[in-house]
Parts: sequence; C-alpha cells; structure tokens
Amino acid sequence: MSRHYDIVIVGAGMVGAALACMLGGSRYRVAVIEAQRPKTRWPRDSVDLRVSAISAASQQIFMALDAWERMVALGVSPYYEMHVWDATGNGAIHFDCASVGEPWLGHIIENRVIQRALLERMKAFDNIELICPARITTIEDEAEQVCVRLEDEDAIGAALVVGADGGNSRVRQQAGIATRGWAYEQKAVVATVATRKPHQETAWQRFMPDGPLAFLPLRDGRSSIVWSTAPGHADELLALDDQAFCRALGEAFEYRLGEISGTGPRAAFPLRLRHSTRYIAPRRALVGDAAHMIHPLAGQGVNLGFLDAAALSEVLLDALAQDRPFYSQGVLRRYERWRKGDNLLTMSAMDGFKRLFGSPSLPLRLLRNTGLRLANIESPVKQGLIRQAMGLKGDLPRLARWTGI
Ligand SMILES: Cc1cc2nc3c(=O)[nH]c(=O)nc-3n(C[C@H](O)[C@H](O)[C@H](O)COP(=O)(O)OP(=O)(O)OC[C@H]3O[C@@H](n4cnc5c(N)ncnc54)[C@H](O)[C@@H]3O)c2cc1C
Repeated sequence: MSRHYDIVIVGAGMVGAALACMLGGSRYRVAVIEAQRPKTRWPRDSVDLRVSAISAASQQIFMALDAWERMVALGVSPYYEMHVWDATGNGAIHFDCASVGEPWLGHIIENRVIQRALLERMKAFDNIELICPARITTIEDEAEQVCVRLEDEDAIGAALVVGADGGNSRVRQQAGIATRGWAYEQKAVVATVATRKPHQETAWQRFMPDGPLAFLPLRDGRSSIVWSTAPGHADELLALDDQAFCRALGEAFEYRLGEISGTGPRAAFPLRLRHSTRYIAPRRALVGDAAHMIHPLAGQGVNLGFLDAAALSEVLLDALAQDRPFYSQGVLRRYERWRKGDNLLTMSAMDGFKRLFGSPSLPLRLLRNTGLRLANIESPVKQGLIRQAMGLKGDLPRLARWTGI
C-alpha cells in the first residue's frame, strides 16, 4: 500500500469538495479522489447548462468556508421572489423575501462555479490532498483499515472512506448498501434561454400534468430552464430546431416572460428517486447523491448534500476533540441518525408534490388548487413555508446556521 490517510473522500463534486473544505485545517489527513478533471476555465459570459438553486443554509456554509466571495466573483444570481402556479386551475402561490425580512430567497449558481470555488479553497489546506484524475474500483476491508483500489492498480489505505461519488456510487455498491426508489418516467430538459420580458430576479414554476417547468433567473438577464416531462416528449423537445423549441417553451410557460427569443444547447437527464437504506457501514459513510437522489422540482438535492457534509464533518471533528475513534460505528451512527430522517422527510414531501401536481383526478386538482390558495394567504404558516424553502428550519449543523449578511 503506497499511502495511508485518516479519511478518503471519493468524489470531488460539489458535495465532496465541500466536505473536504470542512475538514481543512484539522488534524485529519484527508485524500480526495476524483475521476474527472474539474473545469477550471470557461469562456467569459458563457453559462453552463447545470445550475442549482442554492438555499440560504448552503450560502451560510459557503461563507463559513470562505468560499462565498469567490463564488460571487465568478458569478451568482440572487432571486428575491418566487411564483408557483398550477396549469389546470387558478391555484398559485407567491413568495417574497421581504415578507420574512431576509435579503433574498436564494441564489442560482452554476454547478461549475460552486465546484471550482470549493476546490480552490481546498487547495489552501495542507492536510487535504486531491488525487485526480483517478477512479476507484474496489474497497476491501483489512485488519486496521480499508484498502481503496484505483483503476491504475494503485492502492490507498484509509481509516474511513466517504462516498461523495454521486447517484451511481461505487462506494455504496462496494459496501453492499441497498437503495429504495423508482424511476419517475420523466426526464428533465435543461437549457439557457432568452425571454422578451425581464425575469425580474424571480424564480418561476408552472406545474403541468406531465411535470413542472421552472425558469430560474440568471445574472445576464437570461433564464435557466428545467422542464420535467414524459421521456418521449423530452426526446421530441431535444430534436426540435431552436425556433420550434422556443415556440413550444413559450406556449408551455403561458408566455409569462413573453416570447422566448433564443435558446442555447439543450440536454436531458432521467429523473429518479433513490434513497440508501443505510448511510453508513463499517469504516464507510455516504453523503450527497450517493445517499439520496430526489426530483429537482424544489431545487433541494445538492442543498441536502451540503447539510450531510456539514453534519458528518461536525460529528468527525467532535470525535477528534473528544479523542474518540472517528471511524467507529458509534460516531458514524450519530451522523446517520441526524441526516437520514431529515432527508427522508424532504424526499417524501417532494415525491408527494410531484404526484399531487401530476394527477389528472378532479378531487386532487381541487385539493391542490385550494391548497395553493390557502397557503398563499399571508400568515405565519406561509412564513414557515418560506423559511423551510430557504433551508432555515430544522436541526441544522453548526456550519449551516444562518447568521445573516
Ligand atoms: C436537472 C436537474 C436540476 C437540479 N437542480 C437542482 C437545484 O436547483 N438545487 C439543488 O439543490 N439540486 C439540484 N439538482 C440536484 C443536484 O444536481 C445534485 O444533488 C448534485 O449534483 C449532487 O452532487 P454530488 O456532489 O453529491 O454528486 P455528483 O455531482 O454526481 O458528483 C460525484 C463526483 O464523484 C466522481 N466520481 C464518481 N464515481 C467515481 C469513482 N469511482 N472514483 C472517483 N470519483 C468518482 C464524479 O466524477 C463526480 O465528480 C438538480 C438535478 C438535476 C438532474
């Protein structure tokens, strides 16, 4: 075995890179193994197809990690309001950050910006080493450690391995951890589009029987769209020429932002719900999409992943301070108990919304439209909903507790 580390994080995507920063400067020796060379340069003023709606809790984490300023410099787009409405009735809800006394509801940020800022921050720490490009193949138990084997046949020893390696997690498979879930019979079509009317720094979402269509505001005045729809329809939308796609999109969005005047390239992602039955196994833990994948309708996926990382790092750093074996099941179980229930709650709520808004049944249509109208009445209930969406409620890890700006 050529090297040994206390903690090996597999995957330097957004969640793995965040976890590494959280452990930066501690007494842990950490290796981060990433299969793909991350993007560090792109044409000025280009916008990546993959963006995320980032909650106030995640922003707080980035601020605590000293990565937020870099993200702002690379480009973030605040949004102050959100409009959600049902295509099959008159139910609608409107969220405004002013009603809860916050400066914004959240930010739309390109995934590559988040990853780059976190990786740059990570490089400043002497105790973190990035091994990239390198792909792990197997993980074997040994007497006092686990042995992580790489594709090039190199092997690395670790007291604890963390799987931050996404939905098809190799760490999860190697640990024999089962998952529950199902495919949604939907694909999400994503694109960057220009609209005749300004987006008003507002996030927009129309629920249609085939799936929700979201317009997320970008800082250059364009919008990033996520159009969840039946797989056959998604394939048709990808095959249309630009003009026909813009027409179909404008119509589906009821021309809320006027005609769609231009579109960039399009891509589609199959959607599924997947939840790991365990987040831990002996000397192993899972974070982010490796542990859970949810429907993107409320933009929660990676925000949950950052909370996983913050909770796991808190548990590991507490163990170090208390001189407890950080890789023990007792310590890891605290992480699992903390995050699994919270994630399950959010996943069930998102799944419920998806089903409620996708149903053609008249009673359910009446229920959701009445529900939206009632929830839209200014009240402590509505304020609670806004705070929930901003990630400001629940049992938050220390790093994620909002201290404001
Ligand atoms: C259309 C769409 C829109 C979305 N919008 C939002 C949103 O608005 N807000 C939100 O919160 N979430 C959103 N999500 C969810 C979000 O994109 C994911 O939750 C997030 O990307 C997961 O990050 P991760 O770091 O856990 O995993 P990943 O991004 O999958 O990263 C895993 C990393 O591990 C590496 N890796 C994999 N296998 C190996 C291996 N064997 N060896 C070494 N390295 C390996 C990969 O190269 C990769 O870099 C959306 C998802 C979709 C599909």
